[in-house]
Amino acid sequence: MDNNNIRKCQLCKSFVRIKITSTNPLTIEEYGIVTTQFGGHFCGSNCALNYVLQIKKKKKAQIKKLKVECV
Ligand SMILES: [Zn+2]
Repeated sequence: MDNNNIRKCQLCKSFVRIKITSTNPLTIEEYGIVTTQFGGHFCGSNCALNYVLQIKKKKKAQIKKLKVECV
């Protein structure tokens, strides 16, 4: 299994969830990756929200709504 193609959560650094769609040839698909309006890819909405909150603190910007998106 080639782990190099699988991305890690930007926040907690654990691998994002994958599913094996084919065994011959081995095809792995990422799923359940959550992204935000600031980009990034996360293992779940919890990490995505924490990421948004971190940016919000750093920028002290007025962010009207927190939005996470499942891709
Ligand atoms: Zn995470």
